[in-house]
Amino acid sequence: MITLDQHPSGRHFLQVPGPSPVPDRILRAISLPTIDHRGPEFGLLGKKVVSGMQQVFQTRHPVAIYPASGTGAWEAALVNTMSAGDAVLMVETGHFAALWQKMALRLGLEPEFLALPGIDTTTGLPNAWRHGVDAAVVEERLRKDNAHRIKAVCVVHNETSTGVTSDIAAVRHAIDAARHPALLMVDSISGLASADYRHDEWGVDVTVSGSQKGLMLPPGISFNALSPKAIEFSKTARLPRSYWGWDEIVEMSAGGYWPYTPNTNLLYGLSEALDMLLEQGLSAVFARHKRWGTAVRAAVQAWGLSIQCADPALYSPVLTGVITPRSVDADAVRRMIHERFDLSLGTGLGKLKGRMFRIGHLGDSNDLTLMATLAGVEMGLKLAGVPLAGSGVSAAMEFFAATPVPAPVV
Ligand code: PLP
Repeated sequence: MITLDQHPSGRHFLQVPGPSPVPDRILRAISLPTIDHRGPEFGLLGKKVVSGMQQVFQTRHPVAIYPASGTGAWEAALVNTMSAGDAVLMVETGHFAALWQKMALRLGLEPEFLALPGIDTTTGLPNAWRHGVDAAVVEERLRKDNAHRIKAVCVVHNETSTGVTSDIAAVRHAIDAARHPALLMVDSISGLASADYRHDEWGVDVTVSGSQKGLMLPPGISFNALSPKAIEFSKTARLPRSYWGWDEIVEMSAGGYWPYTPNTNLLYGLSEALDMLLEQGLSAVFARHKRWGTAVRAAVQAWGLSIQCADPALYSPVLTGVITPRSVDADAVRRMIHERFDLSLGTGLGKLKGRMFRIGHLGDSNDLTLMATLAGVEMGLKLAGVPLAGSGVSAAMEFFAATPVPAPVV
């Protein structure tokens, strides 16, 4: 028998960049009795969550909601729009970009993986995993594709493995400047509902997202926001699809229903999350994430450690990657912090394993939660013998004290 709640006392500090802590209000909604997913009450819930998600994606077009993790929604984006052997242009910005590329290969597509070359001499880490998508390189590549073999450009908005948020509007401009007909597909699994995201305004054809990050839900729901052009592509695309097919799911969910049994109780949670986010207003949600990110980076800078994102214009409002000195195993520090202080930090993924850890600052958080998190990290770094230039806790306290939460725009 395993004990499900092993935390001795007080709340566990879940500071990984997703799953993020689920607010009590959402947990209570999820605990309501399951209802008939073909009954009248359910139809109202279904319509509400679809239209609420359109507001969060900032789109007027259909949003498909899947009972699946984010990986399922990645697959849905590709199988609804592509045919075997299609070329897709992807950009290596980190672990999640690499996983999406691997999926494209497994589905029989021909992904071309653009990457910023070289290794950063100070940290010994790949440059590509410290920077965002270079729209100029995308444009240059598309200009050479006179035969229009490339059917889609696929990029990650907020790279959860690195804490770099790429400029999606710039990628759209690059595709337009090259006069290229490729679809723009964007993974905003960890960006949506934390970082500013505008599906229609930025001309995105498919946005992929998931429930367990800014939406403050447990894992288990994922999304595809579509464009009319993506829907046109899906009519001639030939990769096999059934469960993921947009046609049935979009048609049925317009009436509030699904072609199969959806995850009813998570949809209660989604309904509650939408109320919370939209009551507060998306601009306030984005502003508080930005503010938290600034405080956490002030702490990392005061410690004298390097931030994984090497481009300050692209610092993520969702998480901060902290690089440890080469002689320090970041995972050992993380494990010790977990044991000593009941605080979970994100591990270094893929090429960053053992070299960095990630502090999540997203969703249901506040200044004091982050102060406690930074205190846990600072104590852990000291216990691990990592030389620190100064106190990150003091730097973050000063920032929070001097920077009131902006008043909501009414
Ligand atoms: N893409 C990004 C940017 C992610 O952060 C994640 C998960 O953390 C995924 C894709 C994969 O989603 P999931 O683990 O829900 O399948």
